[in-house]
Amino acid sequence: MNSKPNPDPDQNQNQDQNAPAVERFTGQLKLSGFAEYNQRRLFNGRALICGAGTVAQVVALNLLNVGFGSIKIVGTELSKLNQLARILAPANVDQGSKLTFELISEYPLGDANRPEDLLRDCQIVVDGLAEWREKLELSDMCMQYRKPLVHAGGGGLRYQLFSMVPGRSACLRCLLSMVDMEDFTHIRKEEGSLYAMDSLVGSYLALEVVKLVGKVGASQGNELFKIDGLSGEMEVLRGLDANEDCPDCGNIRAQK
Ligand SMILES: [Zn+2]
Repeated sequence: MNSKPNPDPDQNQNQDQNAPAVERFTGQLKLSGFAEYNQRRLFNGRALICGAGTVAQVVALNLLNVGFGSIKIVGTELSKLNQLARILAPANVDQGSKLTFELISEYPLGDANRPEDLLRDCQIVVDGLAEWREKLELSDMCMQYRKPLVHAGGGGLRYQLFSMVPGRSACLRCLLSMVDMEDFTHIRKEEGSLYAMDSLVGSYLALEVVKLVGKVGASQGNELFKIDGLSGEMEVLRGLDANEDCPDCGNIRAQK
């Protein structure tokens, strides 16, 4: 029996002999707090991106460029998935990531059997969905399967961003009541979009994925980041912990 402890137990799983060389990512390895250990966690990372719009595209592009191990994008329209595949293919030529696409019947994760399969295979989920009903159902599933969810809500030039970590964070349903946004879900989705804003949101979500999976820096899991692209105002709301009265987020926290 090998008694030498492995500093990172996750590294024992899914060790990919074909992972790209660490030296290829010297830029990020020079960052303070970013070591080879963190890069190897990213090499072995497994992300599930829900949605096939611009935000999802930018998240995937960012993850490809940090050497993320496996990225799966699920969407309900074959034409959009094909378009994403064409756009992202050049970025994946040298990175060695496993980029896959899956057509599902409906958001958030297809028919009754698929959520379990899709969630079992990933470490983290990215919310690139447009409708609140879908977002809330995705939050429920991620709480049920104990998967962190990196969420973006809003549209147009106004977004809020939240990293939901089961056991630590409020679920999305509790989040809405905590920050007095329950009516928000009834507001018709703002029409129009600006690539600069969507790419900013996608890059922020990707950064959260890198922090949570790579164990880089600190991701609190109880902060809501609000950004207004038109006015330039940004706001951070803190203390959005699991709600002990909630059967989802509060129950998981109690079990920890
Ligand atoms: Zn809750």
